[in-house]
Amino acid sequence: MTPLLAPGICLICEQRPKLEYELMLDTMRNIHVDFPFRLAGRKYICEPCAVELGTVVGLVSGVELQETLEQALKLADRVSFLEEENADLRQMHVLTERFAPKPRPKVKNAQS
Ligand SMILES: [Zn+2]
Repeated sequence: MTPLLAPGICLICEQRPKLEYELMLDTMRNIHVDFPFRLAGRKYICEPCAVELGTVVGLVSGVELQETLEQALKLADRVSFLEEENADLRQMHVLTERFAPKPRPKVKNAQS
């Protein structure tokens, strides 16, 4: 991990990364003030704050996206299967109607 520029804390939660591998997003922007200010310097956003912000605006993680795409593909396969099955059943219905025995006309009884 590249060393963080001062003050090396998250602009949102004002914390240093808790884990060595925790991602710190570099906004490539700085806070400039003419007086001593503990947040002066590079503006970073830590991974937990970035995730929280993303969630608020409706973003999902890559893992969630992948799971959703896999689920969508399974559902699309199921839809295709059901469409084919429905077409087969419709064809079977047409054939059944065509070749089903027709009701015989009622014959009047001559003795009555
Ligand atoms: Zn943070």
